[in-house]
Amino acid sequence: MRYLILSDIHSNLEAFEAVLEDAGPVDQVWCLGDVVGYGPDPNGCVARLRSMDHLCVAGNHDWATVGKLDLSDFNPDAREANLWNREQLTPSNLAYLESLPETLVQGDFTLLHGSPRHPIWEYIIYASTAEINFEHFDTLYCLVGHTHTPVIFRQQRDDGQSSEALAPLLNKPRELGSERLIINPGSVGQPRDGDPRASYAILDDEARTLEHRRVSYPWEKTQAKMMGQDLPLRLVLRLQYGW
Ligand code: ZN
Repeated sequence: MRYLILSDIHSNLEAFEAVLEDAGPVDQVWCLGDVVGYGPDPNGCVARLRSMDHLCVAGNHDWATVGKLDLSDFNPDAREANLWNREQLTPSNLAYLESLPETLVQGDFTLLHGSPRHPIWEYIIYASTAEINFEHFDTLYCLVGHTHTPVIFRQQRDDGQSSEALAPLLNKPRELGSERLIINPGSVGQPRDGDPRASYAILDDEARTLEHRRVSYPWEKTQAKMMGQDLPLRLVLRLQYGW
């Protein structure tokens, strides 16, 4: 089976559509949370995701939108955009977001948004954080989002010492062996690694490979929609820089 692995769409329909087209046919979509928040198309993104065969776990923005998380933990721009997203969402799409589980296990993969230790909130940015988190899931691999940065953490270096972060090779399938990995596909709708292109990954469970990919999308369209809704300027501008 061929799976599309994506995370942090953040109500950016232009980026989401570009990823779906670039990915080509897949058997199932695995979404690692934060479907909404920040961007201008919460209903469009939730509806598009729901129209496909998919699995999805909850992100902090999804939970904040449905009142499961306190918005006082968000920075002012994120809070403002989240409240706007909440106002737009239909009752059906809100109920869908409310129903999302914190964690899912599919074969060799654990799916969650933040970290195995704290699925909704913890960011795995450093190898030291990844190392602790390897003790908190049972499968060979864990798929995470939340940091908006594509990366792979391996549990042990070749010398048997501590965990390390690997920069994913774009458009090059990586063989999944027997070493334990925490894999982040990056963000579809608001990349933060200096590359504004939408980020995602393709998993082929028969070939046992995972491939990170990037695709350009018309971010100026998303920006124009955000300006039209008076969403925070900082959130508008960051799309073109990928920060
Ligand atoms: Zn996010």
